[in-house]
Amino acid sequence: MKVVVGHLYPDYLNIYADRGNMAVLAARAAWRGIELEVRGIGLGDRLVPGEHDLLYIGGGQDREQALIAPDFAGRATALEEALLGGAAALAVCGGYQLFGRYYRDRGGVELPGAGFFDLHTVAGERRMIGDVLLSCSLEPGVERTLAGFENHAGRTILGPSAEPLGRVVAGFGNDGESGYEGCRRGRALGTYLHGPLLPRNPWLADWLLAQALAHSTGGEPPELEPLPDDLEAAAHEVSAERAHERGGRFD
Ligand code: GLN
Repeated sequence: MKVVVGHLYPDYLNIYADRGNMAVLAARAAWRGIELEVRGIGLGDRLVPGEHDLLYIGGGQDREQALIAPDFAGRATALEEALLGGAAALAVCGGYQLFGRYYRDRGGVELPGAGFFDLHTVAGERRMIGDVLLSCSLEPGVERTLAGFENHAGRTILGPSAEPLGRVVAGFGNDGESGYEGCRRGRALGTYLHGPLLPRNPWLADWLLAQALAHSTGGEPPELEPLPDDLEAAAHEVSAERAHERGGRFD
């Protein structure tokens, strides 16, 4: 079995070691004998709907976001076709913001987004920084936690058709007020959680792999054989504990 991942703007959006999410997906695929190929998609490169089983975009400062936003917004149609065609996606922080309609930065400049998520983001005066813990349900009746680290000025406002990724247990989340974090549309997930996210949330890495395999095979997401995730579980607990102790402080 093979999974092809399209990594959007890897040279620009890679703050807080978000690239580590790619390493986790590659390792968890390899441990199961699944081939995983990562193809970078940079400025001006073509995004061919159907070519990738999963699309990934990391986080970045306002400056880096401004450098790629027009190029990314110009791919809105191709991105929508790829995702409505069943590809999975993970968009983190700055990349998550640009999956929405726009991000208005600290200088009041409005960066265009791809508009796949029904949301918009406006930078506030104080950054929302700290450990964060969420409660998520990606499958009916299955509630799990996600732990990570957030650092953003952006306040993300979900529109009427947007589904949050999860409920904030500790930390700020999308805007520090709504009690929700992230966004989900089908197999596409957006979140503020850095860390990187996937090493301490192995269930989510496997969920994304299974969705990507479903796109690759044209079938249903497979049940992946469990891996010995003791270390990952311990990292999750440390992160969750920190979120309870010191999640969410304005800076
Ligand atoms: N520049 C955006 C903000 O400050 C995103 C930051 C990030 O990707 N960590 O909200």
